[in-house]
Amino acid sequence: MSGTRVPERVVVVGAGIVGLSCAWSLQEHGVEVEVLDKAHPGAGASWGNAGYLTPSLTVPLPEPSLLRYGIRAVLDPRSPVRLPPSADPELARFLLRMIRHCTGARWARAMAIYRELNAQIFTSFDRQWDGGVPVRTAETDVIAAYTDAHQAAGLLHEFEGIVASGQEVDMRMLTGDQVRALRPQLSGRIDCGVRILGQRYLDPVAYLAALADSVRARGAKLTEDAAVTAVERRAGKVIVSAGDTRLEADAVVLANGAWLPELARPHGVRMPQYGGRGYSCSVAVTEPLRGPLYFPATRAALTPRGDRIRVVGVMEFQRPGAPLNRARIETTLRAIRPLLDGVDWADVREEWVGARPLTADGLPLIGATATEGVFIAGGHGMWGVTLGPLTGHLLAELMCTGTRPRELAALDPLR
Ligand SMILES: Cc1cc2nc3c(=O)[nH]c(=O)nc-3n(C[C@H](O)[C@H](O)[C@H](O)COP(=O)(O)OP(=O)(O)OC[C@H]3O[C@@H](n4cnc5c(N)ncnc54)[C@H](O)[C@@H]3O)c2cc1C
Repeated sequence: MSGTRVPERVVVVGAGIVGLSCAWSLQEHGVEVEVLDKAHPGAGASWGNAGYLTPSLTVPLPEPSLLRYGIRAVLDPRSPVRLPPSADPELARFLLRMIRHCTGARWARAMAIYRELNAQIFTSFDRQWDGGVPVRTAETDVIAAYTDAHQAAGLLHEFEGIVASGQEVDMRMLTGDQVRALRPQLSGRIDCGVRILGQRYLDPVAYLAALADSVRARGAKLTEDAAVTAVERRAGKVIVSAGDTRLEADAVVLANGAWLPELARPHGVRMPQYGGRGYSCSVAVTEPLRGPLYFPATRAALTPRGDRIRVVGVMEFQRPGAPLNRARIETTLRAIRPLLDGVDWADVREEWVGARPLTADGLPLIGATATEGVFIAGGHGMWGVTLGPLTGHLLAELMCTGTRPRELAALDPLR
């Protein structure tokens, strides 16, 4: 799109980590920005997630073992993977397409793309920090803990694939006592662990609030309760409709997470997408958790939250707006209860559900659409927090310089 006019005014749809990061990076280029959210900042997946910024775990979701695991898991009522009770043609289309991507060769190709993005994750957060977003990301090791050494095979296999792609992974195998020394909450049931060094994490609640404040302080209007229903191009402008309101802009960024498909489809985006809903809650602990703790066998991720721990888990294929199903949280808590000491299981708060915006090929959608002036920043699935600031940076560069950054070629929303 070389030669395209640089937008002076841009409307961003969605005030999650991705939309706010796009707004923030566009402001870096001097663009006037207005952000619309159908509810408020953090109404989507960006609020209750685990906050892991972990290049060593940021990999494409579709892979051969997902197929084997997924079939077993949906048949087991105690598993963290759930399908909706009634048939949904959109889900069927999504799953069939995703299955086609569950091959070793396609995973390796997608991993090569993630490797390039992963190398820039920390810089993208440091850029926001240097630019005045007042929440610093914390450096950390992530501990994966297991009740049986055989369970570690899956993660170690994944690391082999990451290393084969050219990305380094700094990890150590630990005994049960060694993992307990690093995460004293772990009970005697834990037999071994993997320590993944050189990662980071953040408190998603604090980070999102700080980013929204920063975007506002730099002059953006952030409008809540504004559900965008249509986006069209007319007379050289983009018209964004939200209820009775019509906004005019030079360009729009659709960054509305798991709700993206409906708004994106009229602009030529065909990649099947679906909500992979996850749940979280927090529980009280006698001693603060020292850093992220991951139980791969139960697919549960834990993050420090002051004198509490945030517990995150479940992959429920479901429409993003469906009500929270408390049984899902109970399944996760029941699974991890024997693995932890010093937790007050009666003090459960902040019960939450949010939808991971999944794409069938496991790659984000970032770039221009078939409609001039309409851009997409979405489909980040399991890793939208990690990749949010980098997405904003790359998309703003495309929109404001007219040159597509090399990394975005494979993430073309029209692929
Ligand atoms: C349980 C769980 C754990 C996770 N853990 C991690 C993790 O540890 N690390 C990581 O990197 N990622 C993690 N993720 C993934 C991450 O949370 C998401 O990929 C990311 O938050 C997506 O951000 P987003 O801004 O695209 O979407 P969202 O945060 O969902 O924001 C979309 C926004 O758009 C608004 N919106 C929707 N439709 C409209 C409309 N029509 N008009 C106006 N506004 C609209 C919504 O109200 C919402 O505020 C996790 C996700 C879940 C569910």
